[in-house]
Amino acid sequence: MTNNAESQVLTDGFHLVLDALKLNGIKTIYGLPGIPITDLTRMAQAEGLRVISFRHEQNAGNAAAIAGFLSGKPGVCLTVSAPGFLNGLVALANATTNCFPMILISGSSEREIVDLQQGDYEEMDQLAIAKPLCKAAFRVLNAEDIGVGIARAIRAAVSGRPGGVYLDLPAKLFSQIMDAEAGKKSLIQVVDPSPRQIPAPEAVQRALDLLKGARKPLILLGKGAAYAQADEEIRTLVEKTGIPYLPMSMAKGILPDTHAQSASAARSFVLPEADVVLLIGARLNWLLSHGKGKTWGGKSHKDWGGQKFIQIDIAATEMDSNVRIDAPLVGDVGSCVSALLAGMGSQWAQPPAEWLNAVAERKNKNVAKMAETLAKDPSPMNFHSALNVVRDIIKANPDAMLVNEGANALDFTRSIVDMYKPRKRLDVGTWGVMGIGMGFAVAAAVETGQPVIAVEGDSAFGFSGMEVETICRYNLPVCVVILNNNGVYRGTDKNLGGGADVAPTVFVKDSRYEKLMEAFGGVGVYAATTAELRKGMEEAIRLRRPTLINAVIDESAGTESGRITSLNPAAALKK
Ligand code: ADP
Repeated sequence: MTNNAESQVLTDGFHLVLDALKLNGIKTIYGLPGIPITDLTRMAQAEGLRVISFRHEQNAGNAAAIAGFLSGKPGVCLTVSAPGFLNGLVALANATTNCFPMILISGSSEREIVDLQQGDYEEMDQLAIAKPLCKAAFRVLNAEDIGVGIARAIRAAVSGRPGGVYLDLPAKLFSQIMDAEAGKKSLIQVVDPSPRQIPAPEAVQRALDLLKGARKPLILLGKGAAYAQADEEIRTLVEKTGIPYLPMSMAKGILPDTHAQSASAARSFVLPEADVVLLIGARLNWLLSHGKGKTWGGKSHKDWGGQKFIQIDIAATEMDSNVRIDAPLVGDVGSCVSALLAGMGSQWAQPPAEWLNAVAERKNKNVAKMAETLAKDPSPMNFHSALNVVRDIIKANPDAMLVNEGANALDFTRSIVDMYKPRKRLDVGTWGVMGIGMGFAVAAAVETGQPVIAVEGDSAFGFSGMEVETICRYNLPVCVVILNNNGVYRGTDKNLGGGADVAPTVFVKDSRYEKLMEAFGGVGVYAATTAELRKGMEEAIRLRRPTLINAVIDESAGTESGRITSLNPAAALKK
């Protein structure tokens, strides 16, 4: 832009935002255009950024969050003010809870009017609302501060424990004009945004001493370990120590699930039996029964099982959050695992054979039992027979991404479908939230270029289902498999009041979900048998075409709340 009077070259807020993002290696914006950011999305495309435009901000936000997990760079989501911002906020809060780096950028209305509550178009004090729900929140009022604002947002998102950051950009900022040269100089290319954090030598020694004395050691890998991209170091540690390991759901594949040391099939045996547990990027939250109770061999649900814990985590405040951590190892996973390896020297004793044999015995028994179940091919299909097909497809295509949400659809997929490579399984995460499906699927395809298989419960799919249009619009190689049992948990519930309405958990029977995909030019498949499901999935992967497979399973298959029945208050009443 040129100012003729002085022939001075000018820039504006729009371009400074885009230039700052580009300068920091951001290549894709996930979002939904509208006032006041419509032009920003157009200009972003013009400036060579990829803009993936969604049908609902929550899905765009989920896409940005998982892009952050996959790439280690903040995923960027762009929304309009008030309602659009609020829709995106669900994803921002979820990203923060899951430690995914993400920046939600929302346009907002003018401060002067918002602060006096004079009733502007989509008026809302967005910064104040976002603050408690994310790691950091910033607002930029002047064009010359855009560089600092974006730099601070990037650092806050990816340094230390990653998380969600909110960046508030009032509409007037975009049209502010400044000298182009001065504008360029005001931008910051962030140096070393997620610096390594090296653990203290005495903390490493403490951890090694504890591990050395263990009779029944266990390693637990969490999604922090997957995020850290320290795959080689982790594999070396596991194999050098010979310790059995358990992957949390999104850590599956850091080592292949078929690895001899995987204790997944003996989970309920190793947790209460282990004497020393090494946690790598995994929190002792509800997903691990808070490190105590019967799962861990305690007598009642609050009892300590007697295990000693070594915990590797980048957040020092995570230590002792649920039970005592005997050897905290604060630092990034790569540095901590390398330090442990260095401290072990060339000789490190393997765990006692008695422990390894006991784990192997339990594991082999359970694997054989599962193989028997998977070999059955009932009509109609059930979760096991349908997921046996997905299991084969992933085995044949280990680079494919797997997105997974639902209740039973989640639990069964996690235990049946083996993963072979790191960061391939993306799921409901720490909150067990529904609605991540299509947002994650879109970003998984965009970020990796690999085929994506999204295994969805029929209820879970409904939260983001409209994004099949987005999948078709960008012609993404996404194959959605809906495990359709006509309802939430299952389709057989009855109206307890005896009225004409169906039960709250029941959907329209025999819904033809595949026609949704056909409506936008994708491939729809109705699969009543495992052969039809297999053929549909194989074609989807081969042709890389947007596909939705309506996999019809027994409507009585599935349990209430899946495997977390104990968290359902009704279960407590029944006791
Ligand atoms: P899971 O649900 O798989 O058990 P969590 O989300 O509970 O995993 O835990 C992930 C943990 O990893 C968090 O406590 C987070 O602070 C930690 N973390 C994330 N990135 C890193 C990293 N690069 N180095 C060390 N710890 C990390």
